[in-house]
Formats: sequence, C-alpha cells, structure tokens
Amino acid sequence: MARHDHDHDHDHDHDELDDDELDEVELAEEREQALRRQIALSQVRQYGDAVLRMRAGEVEVFDEELARLGERMIELMHDAEGIGLAATQVGVLRRVFVFRDDGVDRVIVNPSLSASGGELETSEEGCLSLGPVRVPVERPREVTLEGSDAAGRPVKLELEGIEARIVQHELDHLDGTLIIDRTDPESRREALALLRPRLVLSRG
Ligand SMILES: [Zn+2]
Repeated sequence: MARHDHDHDHDHDHDELDDDELDEVELAEEREQALRRQIALSQVRQYGDAVLRMRAGEVEVFDEELARLGERMIELMHDAEGIGLAATQVGVLRRVFVFRDDGVDRVIVNPSLSASGGELETSEEGCLSLGPVRVPVERPREVTLEGSDAAGRPVKLELEGIEARIVQHELDHLDGTLIIDRTDPESRREALALLRPRLVLSRG
C-alpha cells in the first residue's frame, strides 16, 4: 500500500552548515531518496502483470529463505515509501505480507482477518502496483489479525483505523484482489483510464 502524506522530517544534524550548503545537502538527499524509490518500484509488479491476479499459497516451512523474503520486503517497502507490501507484489505466491504497525515493521505469514467491530469506513487508498491510482474503498474500521511471524511464532493483533485498512489491503493482494475491484464503478472507470496509457508505454 502506498503512503500518501510525505513528511520530510530529517533528524540529521546540520548545525555546522550554512543555508546554501544545507539546501544542497537536502537536495542531494531528496534526489537519492527519489532514486531509491524508483529502483524499489521497478521491483514491484505493476498492474497488468498476471501474478497480481493469482492466489498465493499457504506457507508450510518457516526457514531461512522465508526470513530473508520478509527482510527484503521490508526494505523494499521502506525504499518505495510504502506502508504495506504483499509477497504477490514481488512475484512470490506465498501468503506473506509486511506492514508498518504504528512505526513497527511487521512480517505476517498465513494471515487471517475477522472484523471486530460492525463499523465500516470509506477512505482513499493507493497501491504500489497501481502507480498514480487512488480510489475510495469501504472497509471494516476494526479487525483482528491472526497469523505467524517469519519464525512461525503466532501473532494476534487488534487493529483499527489506518493499520486495519493496510492489513485488509495486503490480505486482498494474497487473494488476487486489487483496490479497483473494491471501489465504486465510477472510480474504477477513472482508475482504469489512468492505468491504460501506462500499459501502452510499458510495452515500448
Ligand atoms: Zn497494494
């Protein structure tokens, strides 16, 4: 899932630099960050890729390879400035996703969800696989997430608001479902219009 707000809080200490030097340092940092994001996004499967429509299989073996997959996905999520990423999006059809849980990176394996409150909420969502698309999606506001971490230890989280939304979005990916399937018909039409020219360009 893509992050929408861009907070540029640099916690580096620039006290010894004058304003011009400071600008240059910040510009260089921003350029590097933009480049890292571009490289990360080039590793995320994009709309039109058949793998995004496939169902990922249950994980049965918790080995070193799975741990590495989780680490790689967290790194990609950070570099892409995302707040969630499903294994499907890196072409791995296993039931694994990563997400930012209030500042903490989590790897969730074989996730299952149940709505813990009756309340639904509609909010705009973006997706690292859908470029510029943002569409309103209605989802339960509170969910209980169950699964394992990368080492096979059981995880149970009560989530609400943005975190509840992220995990529903990522679990959808593992079932081949995208936000354009969950939005209203008009938003879907607009989204597809945005996505079509990208498909043409990517063939060139
Ligand atoms: Zn997504």
